[in-house]
Amino acid sequence: MDYKKAIRQIIDNRKNALDRAYDVYQTLSLSDSKISELNREKRAYAVKGDNESYDRCEEQIKARIKELGLYATVYPPYSCPLCKDSAFVGKKLCSCVKKLAIESEELTFNLHSFEESDPNTFGENAELYLKTQNNLLSLCNRFPYNKMKNVVLMGKPGTGKTFLASCVANAIMQRGFSVVFLTAFEAVERMLKYHTTFNESKSSYLAPLLDCDLLVIDDLGSESMFKNVTVEYFFHIVNERMLSGKTTLITSNLTINEIGVRYGERTASRLFDKKLCYAKEFNFADGRKMEIK
Ligand SMILES: [Zn+2]
Repeated sequence: MDYKKAIRQIIDNRKNALDRAYDVYQTLSLSDSKISELNREKRAYAVKGDNESYDRCEEQIKARIKELGLYATVYPPYSCPLCKDSAFVGKKLCSCVKKLAIESEELTFNLHSFEESDPNTFGENAELYLKTQNNLLSLCNRFPYNKMKNVVLMGKPGTGKTFLASCVANAIMQRGFSVVFLTAFEAVERMLKYHTTFNESKSSYLAPLLDCDLLVIDDLGSESMFKNVTVEYFFHIVNERMLSGKTTLITSNLTINEIGVRYGERTASRLFDKKLCYAKEFNFADGRKMEIK
C-alpha cells in the first residue's frame, strides 16, 4: 500500500467509526427509553439556556451508554492519538501512515525462526553457520541499538542465507519494528517506478524502503541492471539508511569483489564500511541444499 492509500484508509476508518457511532446513537435514542427521556430533558434545558443541567444530562446519557456496553462504539477512541486519525501531525505525515503502509504490503516473505534451523544440515560448515546464526541472534536482541547497521550474507544458493534473513526479519518484526523484505528484483521494480513517476505518488515507491526499521534485500545480483536506476538507487538507499542509523540486511550469491564490480566502489565502500558492516561469506558446496519446509 502506498502512503496515499494509507492516508485515505486512516481517514476513512475514522469516518466509518463516526458514521457507525451516529447510527447506533440514533437507534438508541429511539429504542432505549432512558436515553430518549434524557434527550428530551436535554433539549428542554437547551431551550432554557440551562447549561449546567444540559451537561448533567449529557453525562447521564454517557453513563447509560456505558452501562449498555456501547461506549467505545458511540464514542470511538482514536486509533492513533498522535494525529487523532488525521494522518498528519502539523504538516508532517504521521508515523501511523508509514507503519500502515509498510505493514500492509511487504509481509510476503516466509516467516522463519532461529529455533527451526538445523546447523547439522551444513555438515563441515555447521560451525560457521552456527556462529553466524548466533551473531545475528544477538544483533536481533540489541536491535535497534546494534552497532553493525549493514549485514551482508553472501554465498552460493542453498547455504541458508535467505533462511537466516527471514529469521532476523521475523525476530525484529515480533518486537514491533517495521520490516520490509523484498527480493532485489522487487526492489528494482520500485526504483523504476520511482524513476518514471512524476506525480504525487512518486515518493511512495521508495519511501517504505527508506523509512522501515529493517530493510531486507534478498538475492542481490539477480535483478536487472537499468541505466541510471539500479546502481544509483541502490547507493541512495544504502547511503540514506546509513545516515539515519537504520539497519539493512542483504543476501547475495555474489562475492564482495563481484558486488564492487557490479555496483561500483562508492557503493561497496559504504556497504562494507568496516565499522558498520557485518559481512559473512558462505562457501559451502552448491549441492548442500538446506531443506526448509
Ligand atoms: Zn497517526
